[in-house]
Amino acid sequence: MQDKNYINIKDLSPQEIEDFVLNNNSKPFRARQISKWLYKKGVDCFDDMSDLSKDFRDLLEFSFSLEPSLELEQEQVSEDGTKKYLFKLSDGNQIESVLIPDKSRNTLCISSQVGCALGCTFCMTGTVGKIRNLRPSEILDQYLLVNKYNENAITNIVFMGMGEPLDNLENLVKVINVLTDPNYLALSPKRITVSTSGLVPQIKKLGEQVSVNLAVSLNAPSDELRDEIMPINKRYPIKELLEASINFPVPNRKYLMFEYVLLKDVNDSDIDAHTLGKLLRGIKCKINIIPFNEAYPLPYKSPSWDRVLKFQEILISYRINVRIRKSRGSDILGACGQLAATYPSIKVKEPQAQI
Ligand code: SAH
Ligand code: SF4
Repeated sequence: MQDKNYINIKDLSPQEIEDFVLNNNSKPFRARQISKWLYKKGVDCFDDMSDLSKDFRDLLEFSFSLEPSLELEQEQVSEDGTKKYLFKLSDGNQIESVLIPDKSRNTLCISSQVGCALGCTFCMTGTVGKIRNLRPSEILDQYLLVNKYNENAITNIVFMGMGEPLDNLENLVKVINVLTDPNYLALSPKRITVSTSGLVPQIKKLGEQVSVNLAVSLNAPSDELRDEIMPINKRYPIKELLEASINFPVPNRKYLMFEYVLLKDVNDSDIDAHTLGKLLRGIKCKINIIPFNEAYPLPYKSPSWDRVLKFQEILISYRINVRIRKSRGSDILGACGQLAATYPSIKVKEPQAQI
């Protein structure tokens, strides 16, 4: 038995809640009652779980905590309607989540770690280094709280906020199970996308456990260039990454996605586009090209719009399905790669890979 307040009940997967119920000689339907109170009704205390017996509520109270794991510190709204939320964790660290409303979608970009160990040279989060993994409750509360603050429900989730989700695989899988279980948050796995910089063994492990969309941050067409801007490539080079990505079981009728951040004069030449076209030709996939979002103190620039269009045109000539991803929320530093919270005690340094 855990000490009171030791574990947040939202750190438990659906299976773990069921095990808890059964281990305490209660009926399996209790697990569904708990999930309803936690995720559909959003109660703040066990006593509000009114269809559970007093004894069972006391047992829950004794075993778990139920406080929100995040405190909202700031909400910023961009000219384009994008909203950025700055949350404080119980240990004082900060993370950010970004809500991106679009015609029929309301997409939440979620953080999975405080900082990131991978040190990609174009990414603000990478300048911080990894401070720690987020717990499942801290990842889920981003969704639950932002949903509560907004009239329109969140329809899609992308793990493209701060951190490398596959460097926090166990917690990520728990969260995906809570998000998709029909008795929990019941989101379609087709509406969830995990973005990774390319941790090859973890891509395989994720695919063995869940079926969600996968976005692979490729960002360079050759090992030589990728080694330079994404140090993880030295460990898992492009050939291995492509093999793992192609074998990933994306949901039915969905495509494997590649992301390619365009950095002016670094990876945006015609030759780069042709090399990328040849590399991906014939693979069933979509590519998102993302013009670099400038963020001080990163040393890169965004290419001209003409360059972006030319790069796209070359990829299309290889019959590749390619889209330019509009930058949303850049005026509030809410766009991809601009998230770094404020980290009061941490000085921003040159990006450095830690793994
Ligand atoms: N760690 C994961 C998910 C978070 S980064 C990953 O790397 O995929 C999410 C996306 O933002 C990645 O595709 C990354 O390449 C992109 N990105 C990082 N910094 C950026 C920047 N300054 N401008 C545009 N995109 C950026
Ligand atoms: Fe980490 Fe992704 Fe940023 Fe690379 S791009 S430093 S993996 S968050």
